[in-house]
Amino acid sequence: MAIFDPLLDRNPDFAATNAHVGLTPVPRHQVFLLSCIDSRVDPAILLNLDLGDALVLRNAGGRVTNEAIQEIAFIGAVTEMMAGDGTPATFEVVVVHHTGCGTGLLADDDFRSAFAAKTGADADELLASAVLDPRATVRTDVEKLRDSPLLPTHAVVSGHVYDVDTGLIETIETSVGSVE
Ligand SMILES: [Zn+2]
Repeated sequence: MAIFDPLLDRNPDFAATNAHVGLTPVPRHQVFLLSCIDSRVDPAILLNLDLGDALVLRNAGGRVTNEAIQEIAFIGAVTEMMAGDGTPATFEVVVVHHTGCGTGLLADDDFRSAFAAKTGADADELLASAVLDPRATVRTDVEKLRDSPLLPTHAVVSGHVYDVDTGLIETIETSVGSVE
């Protein structure tokens, strides 16, 4: 029996709800969420999303990596193509970091150097990818994305922190600037 089997067994119940029927690849909300892979921070659950509500990309920490920027650029290109000669609808890239993030392990010197040796990753880049202070890292990432030449011109960016203890999301950067 595969480890996945107990979860797979739940799928027919989902299919029976018909929640998937009639959806298109275009989400209801012009929102592209970027968040951590941590099982406690699934944005679909935190935000009560329905199937088809929003685009979601997750990586360790919810970091604005070059790969994440490529994905955002891809969505920008797709929405431009779909708009034809018209103006594509503005979409918001919502970056969410969280408290208690497991990427904090990368700040541990022994763990980081062993992982760097095993994977060939740059130790300094690994350290920079650790989310120790989510308010600080989300600001850094919002700035990085806004500064990227690959950010679609019809995209805006906001930054938020999810608190795993309270269940609440705090906005750190709105799509037009800092809240503080
Ligand atoms: Zn995390």
